[in-house]
Amino acid sequence: MRLTVCKFGGSSLADGNNIARAADIVKGDPARRFVVVSAPGKRFSADEKITDMLYACYRECEADGSCAASFAKIRKRFTSIVAELGMEGFGIEGVLDETERAIEQKRSADFTASRGEYLNARLIAALLGWEFIDASELIFFDKRGAFDEARSYPVIAARLAACEHAVIPGFYGTGADGEIRTFSRGGSDVSGSIIARGVGADLYENWTDVSGFLACDPRIVSKPQKMEKISYKELRELSYMGANVLHADSIFPVRKGNIPINIKNTFAPDDPGTLILPSVHYVKTHNIVTGIAGKKDFTVLFLEKSMMNSEVGFARRVLSVLEKENIGFEHMPSGIDTLSLVIESRYLAGGVLERLIDEIRDAVAPDYVRVLENIALVATVGHGMASNVGTSARLFGALSQAGINIRMIDQGSSELNIIVGIDNADYERCVRAIYREFFETPAGADA
Ligand code: ADP
Ligand code: ASP
Ligand code: MG
Repeated sequence: MRLTVCKFGGSSLADGNNIARAADIVKGDPARRFVVVSAPGKRFSADEKITDMLYACYRECEADGSCAASFAKIRKRFTSIVAELGMEGFGIEGVLDETERAIEQKRSADFTASRGEYLNARLIAALLGWEFIDASELIFFDKRGAFDEARSYPVIAARLAACEHAVIPGFYGTGADGEIRTFSRGGSDVSGSIIARGVGADLYENWTDVSGFLACDPRIVSKPQKMEKISYKELRELSYMGANVLHADSIFPVRKGNIPINIKNTFAPDDPGTLILPSVHYVKTHNIVTGIAGKKDFTVLFLEKSMMNSEVGFARRVLSVLEKENIGFEHMPSGIDTLSLVIESRYLAGGVLERLIDEIRDAVAPDYVRVLENIALVATVGHGMASNVGTSARLFGALSQAGINIRMIDQGSSELNIIVGIDNADYERCVRAIYREFFETPAGADA
């Protein structure tokens, strides 16, 4: 008998009607035995996600010692979900009272944020008539705050082997100190992947509000092409670079277990969606480029020094300055006499940038330091790029025709992607120009 783990995102569970729709999907296939759920998301674009409302609760609690005002809004959302589902007998008021008290007692941001998934999973378990299993019993983090696979997988396998069906909240687990810890935002995708690996599922279904992984963000290009199949590697590059339909870390657990991911649309369940496959099963598509993704708000530090290449330890000394300041870097393109550091701008606010430059000057005495701020990165990704001569010429040609100034180029050593740095203001135009070139212009044609 096949075994499928499904994860439903907040966009699929925003109100009672959508929750009922998700429950029908679950019941529609007996292979779907374990369901991981997010907290209710937005019902319309100006709406608030339950998780954001919970972070507001935490802030209110820190300021006033009570979260009454913010929690009242959460209470209203869950009460109306219960009414829409006709589940008045569930006793939501008592569960909400208990949750509000626990939030006020614990005073922990992670605990508070996790309650959206906790409440939703309890509700959906009751709706399906399935067992609720708390993620705090299944998913563990180590002392450094990283997912502890050695501890979690045996527990997941043993606990779920003893169970026919279960609903499990996403987004959180138990830290090394025994307290609730969350993944980063969007982390229920990671929880679903961990459960799929832990039970040795045949498939990880990720149910969301789009019919699969699209060639680029549908908020930038209207109706972009859908990808039928992509490889784990392409997914990792695209999701890391901002294609946030799936959390960038969600691929690691399933990749190790060779479990395919199927991205499916809760609102069009018959659409085949996108299949994300281990590279060994990867079937080449005719496209050179699989997808385009990007992120704004980076700072680039250009360092230039004659004969840098022969100065042993140059890069190490620069990187040790970053390490001392506890700042990670995104990319580090280098030339013969130049080295650039691409860093998220949020790490450099409040005088950190100036201090970093002084320390780099002391450490390696560069001839020249230049800073570029408000930079966006756009990655063009695809296995087909390595084998097709002239891909970069087409990419740069398209950007030049669109009048976009390229401030930095980084071609990953995997030849799976080319990343360009451009001004934040050019971001959307850049994505559209690349999309036009590779998805709307036949190869060889003059754009
Ligand atoms: P969920 O609530 O199911 O976790 P998310 O909101 O996290 O869903 O992710 C789905 C959204 O991701 C889509 O509604 C879409 O706007 C956005 N998105 C951004 N880039 C892409 C892409 N390349 N393909 C599909 N969706 C994308
Ligand atoms: N509810 C969490 C968030 O909004 C986790 C998730 O939805 O995946 O980030
Ligand atoms: Mg998500």
